[in-house]
Amino acid sequence: MSRVVWLGVITFAVASAAAAQGPWTIATNDTQMQFALSGGRPTISQLTSVADTSCNWASGEPECVLPASVTVGTTPTAVTWVYDGATATARQVEFAYHCDNPSLKLVSRWTSTALPGPVEHNVLLTNQDSRNMSLSMPYATALKLRRQAGHSYDHWSVEKASGDYAPEGPRAVPITGSYQTTLLCGPYSTDMDSEFDTPYTDMRDEIPWLCINDTTAGSVVYGGIEYSAWTVIDIKNNADYIDAKMGLKPTMWETTTTTPLAAGITLTYPPTFVGVCKGDVDDSCNRLHRWVEQHLRPPVPGGITPLIVNNTWGVGFGINETKSKAMIDSCAALGMEMFHLDAGWYKEVGDWHADTTKFPSGMASLAAYAHSKSVKFGLWVAWAQGGDMKTYNNEMLTVFNPTQAPWFTQAFAGNWTSQSYSGATVCLADPGAVSWCVGELHRIANSYSIDMLEHDQPVIPDQGCKRTAHPHTANDWVDTSRAACDGYYSVYDQLRQVHPGLWYEDCDNGGRLVDYGVAKRTHYYSVSDINDAIALRQVFYDASYPMPPSMLELYLDHNTDANQLLMVATTSFVYMLRSCLLGWPTIQCDTTTWDTTKKNAAMREFGFFKNKLRPLIANGNIYHVLPRPSFAKDPNFDPDNPDDPGWDGVEYYDPATGKGALMVFRPYSTVTQKTIKLKGLSPTKNYLVESADGGVSTQTLSGTALMTSGVTVNLPAQNSSDMVFLTATDTVGADTIAPSINSVTVSPALAASGDWVTVTVDAADDVGVVSVTADGLQLAHTTGNHWVGCVPAAGATGDHSVSASASDAAGNVTSGCFAAYKTAPICGANRGALYDSCAKTAAGNFLFKVWGTAHLVDSDIFTLSTAQAYPVTVLAPGYTLAEGNFAAARGVLQPGAGVPMISSSAALVQVLH
Ligand SMILES: [Zn+2]
Repeated sequence: MSRVVWLGVITFAVASAAAAQGPWTIATNDTQMQFALSGGRPTISQLTSVADTSCNWASGEPECVLPASVTVGTTPTAVTWVYDGATATARQVEFAYHCDNPSLKLVSRWTSTALPGPVEHNVLLTNQDSRNMSLSMPYATALKLRRQAGHSYDHWSVEKASGDYAPEGPRAVPITGSYQTTLLCGPYSTDMDSEFDTPYTDMRDEIPWLCINDTTAGSVVYGGIEYSAWTVIDIKNNADYIDAKMGLKPTMWETTTTTPLAAGITLTYPPTFVGVCKGDVDDSCNRLHRWVEQHLRPPVPGGITPLIVNNTWGVGFGINETKSKAMIDSCAALGMEMFHLDAGWYKEVGDWHADTTKFPSGMASLAAYAHSKSVKFGLWVAWAQGGDMKTYNNEMLTVFNPTQAPWFTQAFAGNWTSQSYSGATVCLADPGAVSWCVGELHRIANSYSIDMLEHDQPVIPDQGCKRTAHPHTANDWVDTSRAACDGYYSVYDQLRQVHPGLWYEDCDNGGRLVDYGVAKRTHYYSVSDINDAIALRQVFYDASYPMPPSMLELYLDHNTDANQLLMVATTSFVYMLRSCLLGWPTIQCDTTTWDTTKKNAAMREFGFFKNKLRPLIANGNIYHVLPRPSFAKDPNFDPDNPDDPGWDGVEYYDPATGKGALMVFRPYSTVTQKTIKLKGLSPTKNYLVESADGGVSTQTLSGTALMTSGVTVNLPAQNSSDMVFLTATDTVGADTIAPSINSVTVSPALAASGDWVTVTVDAADDVGVVSVTADGLQLAHTTGNHWVGCVPAAGATGDHSVSASASDAAGNVTSGCFAAYKTAPICGANRGALYDSCAKTAAGNFLFKVWGTAHLVDSDIFTLSTAQAYPVTVLAPGYTLAEGNFAAARGVLQPGAGVPMISSSAALVQVLH
C-alpha cells in the first residue's frame, strides 16, 4: 500500500513540475492553442487549426493584457504585476497574476470544449484591497496574428441590419498597407429611416465577429465577443503581423471609459473566443455555428428547432381574443407550431396584465386554448420598459413610483408619457431593477403558462445613465452598458434556472442586439424589423456568416407594398414564403385571410420545411453559393455582378446525413436558367438531385460534378423560386450495376431423367462477370459472354427450367429461371418403327433407343442398320465406334421425312459387340 502511494506522489510531483514550466496546450475539435513562458510571462506560442498545425497564427504575444494602472481613490497608480503560475487541465489553462500594492488579483482562463469551434477566454480582475478603485478596462483579448510572407489576407465583417434594410452586406477587405479599422458593436444599433436616403450615412454597428482569412493558405482565424455592451474589435495591419483586439470600447466621444472597481469586487472582462479553421470563410462559420448552437445557446426545449411561428403583429394593436383564437385555429390547421402574441395585449407599458377589454378571458385562458390545439404560446413583453402610471401597485413598473424611480437612467418630468409599446428603459445595473424584472417575469411565466418569452425594446441603455448610485460610472455610455449588460444577463440566467423549458426570443426593435452574449441567453433573435421578401433574404445572407441560421428569426408580413405584389400569383406567394423559411420563420400575417390556394401552398411549404429544411438548418452547414440578394430590377443594375443579374440563394448540406438543399430565388432577373456550383459535398459520393417545383430534372450527379460543373436550375418566372434537394445515394466508383443475363440455352431440349444437359449462358456486366451458375452448379467461361456447363435433367417427366445466376466482383447478382427442357421416358424401338408416322408424332414426348450395325459417315454421324434395312442416322458428335460395331444409341427423334434421325451424343452411344 505504502509503495503505491509513494509512486503516486512521485508521479504527481513530476507532472506538477512540468505544468509549472509549460508549454500548455488545449484544443477543441478544430482549434489548438499552446501557451509558453517567455521572459517569465505566459505567451501564446501557437494558434493553429488541429487539421494543419504547420500554419501558426501566433506571434508569441502575451496571453493577456494586464492593466498598467488603476486609479486608487482619485490617484492614478501604476500596477506591478507578478506572474503566479498556471493551473492546467485537459480543457482549461488558467494563469494567475497579482499586484501587492494596490492589492489586485487577475485570473486569465482559456477554456476548450470537445466540440468543433473556438477556445474561450475569460478574465477576472479582483480588488483585494480595502480601497475603492477604478480603471480603464484593457482589451479582453489582444492577438498579433502572424503574417506569412507572400500571403494575402482579407478582413471580413457584417453589420447588424438593425430595424431596417441592410444596405451593405458582408465586407471582405484586403488587409494591406496601413489598413486599420474599428468594428463598433453596441447594445442598440441605430439605423436610417430609409435605404433610399442618399448619400447613405452608415450608422449601424457590427455583429461582434472577428474574421481574418488567409486566402493563400486557406486558413481562417475567427473570434467574437460574448457581450452586449459597447465593445470593439480593432484590426490593424503591421509588417509581420495583424493586430486583432477585442474588448470593451475604450473611449466614447473622446472620453475614456472608466469602470469602477470597488473594494472586494471581482470585475469580469467581456468574454471572448478565438478559433482557427482550415478552409474558407464559410467553413470557419460552419464550425462557429455548431459551437454557438451546442455550447453557447441554452438547450432547445423539446430538441426541435427552428419552429414555424405565427405572430400577431400583422394585425398590430387590432389583436384581441377572438382574432387570437382564430389565428391559433389557423396555426393548427396549417401546421404552424407556435402562436406568438405580439404587442397590443397588455394594459399599458410597465403593466403586463391583459387588457381585459380585448382579452376578457386573460392570458392563461388563451394559452390553454393554444395548448388544446397543440400550438405553443409565445408572448411579447417589453419587460425592461417602465411606464407613466401614477396609480400603481408592485406588479407595475413606472417612473413615478418613488421606489422604482431611481432604477431608471434619469428622473422624469411629471408630464412625461410612455408610448403604446415603449417607455423608459430601466438601468439593469441597479440590483433593485434586476430583482423586480426577475420577479415579474416569474409571475408572467407561471401565471400565463407561456412557452416563449419575447423581449422587445431596449434592455440595455445605449446612451448612458445619470445615476451616481448605480455600480457604473455615471453618464459614461460604455460603462453604463457594461453594468446594465451584466444585469440583463443576470435576469435571464435567473429566469432560466427556474424555467428551463421556456423558449427565449430576442427582439430589440429588430436586429439591434445580435451578438454572442445574447446567443448565450436566448434561442433565437430577430435580425431586422423588415418584412419584404428580398430584404429578409439579404439580412439572412449577411447574418448567416457569423450566426447560426437556426437562430436567425425572419419576420414575414404579407402587408408590405412589395409583398402585396407577391400575394397575387401562387408562384410569387411561395417565393415570398420561402424567403422566411431560410432560418427561423416567424410569419407575421393574418393567415385566416388566406384563400384555399394559398393555404394549400403554405401547407406544402411547411411540410417541406419540417421534413427537409429544418434538419439542415438545425444541423447542416450553410454555403453562400450565390451572390447577396439584390433589389436590381434590371440585369445591368448590379455593377458588381454584370453577368449575374440577381438570382440568389443558399445551400445547406449536412455531411452526417448526406442530405442537402439548395434554395434558389429569382427576383427581377430576366435570366430563366442558371447553373449553380455547390460547395461542401463529398466528392466521392453520388447524389440524387430532385426539386420541389421541377426547376431541376431528377438526376444523379457526383459530388465532384455538382461542385465543379454545378446543377442547372430553371425558373421561368420572375419572383419565383425552387428548392433543390440532394440525397447521397452511394459512393462514386462503386459498382452498383448487376450483370445482365442475355440468354440461356439448354441442349438437348429433351432428356431422360439424370442425363446431363448442357447449359450455355450469355451474361454481361458493366465491370465484369466473375461467376455464373446453372441450377447451382458452376459454369465455365468459354469465350466472350459465354459460360457453359452441364446439369442433370430433373427426374420428373415434363417441362423444367434452368435457374441461372450471374455475379460481378462487387457482389451484384442477377438470377432467374430461364430456358426450359423436358424430361421424357425412353422408348426402345426397332428401326422400322421409326419410319412410322406414329413415331414422328411421339418424337417430342419420348426418347428413342435403337440398335444396329454401325456404318460410319463422318466424325459426327453414323448410321445403324442391319443388312441395309431400315437405316437410322445417329447424330452424336465425337462418338467412338468402329465400322461394323453392333451398337445402341438413344436420343431425340428429329422431325422430317426420309431416313429417321436420332439426335444423340457420344455418351449415349453404346458398343454392344
Ligand atoms: Zn444606471
